[in-house]
Amino acid sequence: MTKQFMAANWKMFKTRQEAEETTRELLSLTATKLPGDREVLLIPPFTSIAAVVETIGSRTGFSVGAQNFYPAESGAYTGEISPGMLLDLGCSFALVGHSERRHLFHEGDDFLARKVSFGLEKGLKIILCIGETLNQRKEGLLETTLSRQLTSALSGISNLDIASRLSLAYEPVWAIGTGEVAGTEDIGEAHNFVRSELKNIFSRGAEEIPILYGGSVKPGNISEIIPLDNVDGVLVGGASLQAEGFSRIVLG
Ligand code: PEP
Repeated sequence: MTKQFMAANWKMFKTRQEAEETTRELLSLTATKLPGDREVLLIPPFTSIAAVVETIGSRTGFSVGAQNFYPAESGAYTGEISPGMLLDLGCSFALVGHSERRHLFHEGDDFLARKVSFGLEKGLKIILCIGETLNQRKEGLLETTLSRQLTSALSGISNLDIASRLSLAYEPVWAIGTGEVAGTEDIGEAHNFVRSELKNIFSRGAEEIPILYGGSVKPGNISEIIPLDNVDGVLVGGASLQAEGFSRIVLG
């Protein structure tokens, strides 16, 4: 059974109490209705991770991840969080390379490669986010950009057991938080290209790596996106903040 991953990136939104309430509401809206082939991934801010883990309890089909971490075991890195600390809190995965980390916090290819390999090595699953800016797309650099982001970020991974804990999220930067969703043809082409690049990078196992789409996914467009070839789920920002709307995406 191929799984569909429905991920909610809550960015820097929600107090602990709000995160708990949204989680509780989501659990109740999806109770008994969550198909066995769907997994919900909640990605709250660090401060709400423990509360969300506790609220989910033993409910199956839900897991909790982090938006970021620093690629070191421990040390003098004021303000940073390590993979071990996240695992200790109950996180099973983390995002790497979200466009906001790349553009607002200047995380470059080399640093992202370190994060991917260190996070996987320490036992986290990693969702590596890639995507082109509007200018790159207009200049015909879509494939060049995706290829560079993939090969550089994955350069440190040779072990296939480790690759089995990797997912990708294709998120065109121009579609994130803009209300502008990529057309199904654009999404299909990009996902097929990402799949073929993964096959070039990994000699085996590339078919199994989930590729999520992200960029203004809403209850109104989910049914067009999920059936596309090589789309194994969605990464949702704005529309994941309200439990009611996100539950319609999750079940859509
Ligand atoms: C995101 O933050 O990864 C994202 C896709 O945001 P939005 O759904 O708001 O476009």
